[in-house]
Amino acid sequence: MRPQPYLNPMPVRGRIDTAQPLGLPVINMAFNELPWAPAPAVAQALAQASTGAQRYGSPSCDRLRAALGEAHGLDPDRIICGNGSEDLLDVIARVFARPGDEILISQFGYIQFALTANRLGADLVKAPESDYHTDVDALLAAVTDRTRVLFLANPNNPTGTYIPVEDLARLADGLREDVVLVLDLAYGEFAPDGYCAQTHQLVDRHENVVVTRTFSKAFGLAGARAGWCHGPAWIIPVLYAARAMGPVNALAQAAAIAALSDMQTVHERVAAIQSERARLTGVLTQRGCHVLPSHANFLLLSPPDRDPASTEALIVHLFDTAGLIVTRTREAGLEEFLRVSISLPEHNDLFLEAVDRFLA
Ligand SMILES: *Cc1c(COP(=O)(O)O)cnc(C)c1O
Repeated sequence: MRPQPYLNPMPVRGRIDTAQPLGLPVINMAFNELPWAPAPAVAQALAQASTGAQRYGSPSCDRLRAALGEAHGLDPDRIICGNGSEDLLDVIARVFARPGDEILISQFGYIQFALTANRLGADLVKAPESDYHTDVDALLAAVTDRTRVLFLANPNNPTGTYIPVEDLARLADGLREDVVLVLDLAYGEFAPDGYCAQTHQLVDRHENVVVTRTFSKAFGLAGARAGWCHGPAWIIPVLYAARAMGPVNALAQAAAIAALSDMQTVHERVAAIQSERARLTGVLTQRGCHVLPSHANFLLLSPPDRDPASTEALIVHLFDTAGLIVTRTREAGLEEFLRVSISLPEHNDLFLEAVDRFLA
């Protein structure tokens, strides 16, 4: 008999490798990446760091944490960095949940929350949403004496919707103090001004609230793998205990530090995405599509008939006629939707034209 794994095997998946039937360039609008290459300062920092790649990076990301503290007005000692923020979501869950414990999420919460619970053998509990928005009362009602961690992304992926900071505050106030509340701000920069800063304030007011952030989305460094978590002072050393020695490689640290030194570029890119988001939402709604109000860098939408079969046909049409790759949401209750990342105006135009062709 072979050794018995605790986990079911997962197929190895690459990025999409199907040939485009018309030979068109393939444009990936599926992963919520930014469409721009790193700014010159970041590319330069990466090149510079590569010349020292024979050495380990700082295991505790000292310079990066200092830069984050400076940029966000936070105490660097209350920040821990990770190999992307998904790494930290895992670390947090590992510290607080074991088989038999419950991890609570919102009905259409981020898929990684479910995968994290599965990896640990913890029980996943989903609280119903109202109209594709997180329902704070439903979450609070779903807490049991086995609940250990509550994961909540705002804006959420894949819905793109978010709830105001007042609701987050109500959740933090109403939650039992021995449940860790993880507020995932992966798309926080695309939400209205001040959303991130106000969310961080909840960490100062509660000993059980942490915020996770990433360089993958608004900072456009998905391939570098850098994320961070801001938490109460007591929790940081506990998180260090659960993770590997140096999960954030030296190049990623250098890139993230450089990105923080050029916030102008980040703001410009976020503003461009927000503007395109409004344009696409308007046009698609006019065409009769059902578009959820997005505060992220993607839209979740369904064709006018809201029929999963039409959605499937549209996804095939987008690839076959325009080379566009979007994401099919397969979660129960989201079968009628596809998720498309907001890209450059010319790519977004290709998307709109293909949708028009499909609806004609
Ligand atoms: C993309 C994403 C992340 C970030 O993942 P990284 O590991 O930092 O690249 C975290 N949460 C949500 C909701 C996301 O969509």
